[in-house]
Amino acid sequence: MPEAVLQTAAAEMLDWHGCGMGVMEMSHRGKEFSAILAQTFSDLRQLLAIPEHFKILLMQGGGLAENAIVPLNLSNGGGVDFVVTGSWSHKSSQEALRYCDAKIAASNASSQHRHMPPASTWQLREQAHYVHVCSNETIHGVEMQTLPDLAALGCKAPLVIDCSSHIASRPIDWSKVGLAFAGAQKNLGPAGLTLVVVREDLLGQALAICPSAFNFTTVSDNNSMFNTPPTYAIYMAGLVFQWLLQQGGVEAMQTLAIERANLLYNAIDASEMFYNPVAHDCRSRMNIPFFITQEAGGQAATERFLLGAALRGLLQLKGHKSVGGLRASLYNAMPLQGVTRLVAYMQEFERQGGAA
Ligand code: PMP
Repeated sequence: MPEAVLQTAAAEMLDWHGCGMGVMEMSHRGKEFSAILAQTFSDLRQLLAIPEHFKILLMQGGGLAENAIVPLNLSNGGGVDFVVTGSWSHKSSQEALRYCDAKIAASNASSQHRHMPPASTWQLREQAHYVHVCSNETIHGVEMQTLPDLAALGCKAPLVIDCSSHIASRPIDWSKVGLAFAGAQKNLGPAGLTLVVVREDLLGQALAICPSAFNFTTVSDNNSMFNTPPTYAIYMAGLVFQWLLQQGGVEAMQTLAIERANLLYNAIDASEMFYNPVAHDCRSRMNIPFFITQEAGGQAATERFLLGAALRGLLQLKGHKSVGGLRASLYNAMPLQGVTRLVAYMQEFERQGGAA
């Protein structure tokens, strides 16, 4: 979270804009929260340049719930093609099997999710109702630098992107997208809010078993207020959108993300102790997994590195449990200085031969 946002939220905690109550105490149908919601929608549309023919839905359940909600709404129970580039897209394909004929169109599993399968090799089916990709794989640190152009591949199906972990860090080319979803907790706000942006011609085809609260049409028709929305998380996300707009929007975030990521990748590549195994053309700007070589001490050195990092206030650097090692998640709110300090510590650790 950007520090300025946390400060505003703290200052407004007990009394929002002099109305005598905090956001958590407001009725979600009252005029105060209605004003917050309307501003949040309009700031988000401006921030991500979302065209008018896309609906913005503020939902709950996180990215994992969308793995079920999207097929319930868009698959018609028929074919859906998945491009598996890491753990998250794999999970999406497995969950979808419960609701539709999910098929893997391409996978980078044989390279331990270190390369991006070129779009020209994807085995897309003519009858697919949509094609699912995860545009940034948070665990493996693999990012699509551009979204695939399905139409140019001769595929008429809409593209669904799980952009949970890099949304608002780069512009989105909406002409290539049918639906985008993202859990809020990386770049948009606190956990508990899930963003769905869906092209309006894709509404109205949910399966009968789809719960009403997860039916995109119902949510859209009710302005994301079919049931009580996560009001405080929406308010916080709204503050983040205002902060992002003040910083210069997603273009400014992209410039910063490139600067932060280059700083860390250059340090990793120049080191003999640390390495990042991902192919250069699909290295993530947001999530950078890195490892200490076996010769330099492997797991034991990694533990020492983490202890020393914590002593220096460098937190949350442990790699995901499924891949181990280290990981720096450089989300929008991370100042450049956070990366400079990490790199300085890595260099110090290496100079001292792995003694924290
Ligand atoms: N997709 C991606 C790309 C993610 O990074 C995550 C969470 N790290 C998820 C889906 C799952 O999101 P949630 O925990 O909000 O269900």
